[in-house]
Amino acid sequence: MVSKDLLEILRCPACVREKTGLLTLTRESWLICQDCGRKYPIVEDIPVMLIDEGDKWANTAAESLPVPPPAR
Ligand SMILES: [Zn+2]
Repeated sequence: MVSKDLLEILRCPACVREKTGLLTLTRESWLICQDCGRKYPIVEDIPVMLIDEGDKWANTAAESLPVPPPAR
């Protein structure tokens, strides 16, 4: 589990400068940006907040995301 405190402060690195970049936790394994739709995997309890990583999954439907996310 990722701590709730951590989840509350995390923002999408691609959006945070211009928007809020709020993230929605999905199936305990993914953080989905409400602004751009990038999806960041949580691998071994560590959110991988890299724009490149978010890009990779941006066009994948939330319900099609693999759980657990693939190891990097
Ligand atoms: Zn974003």
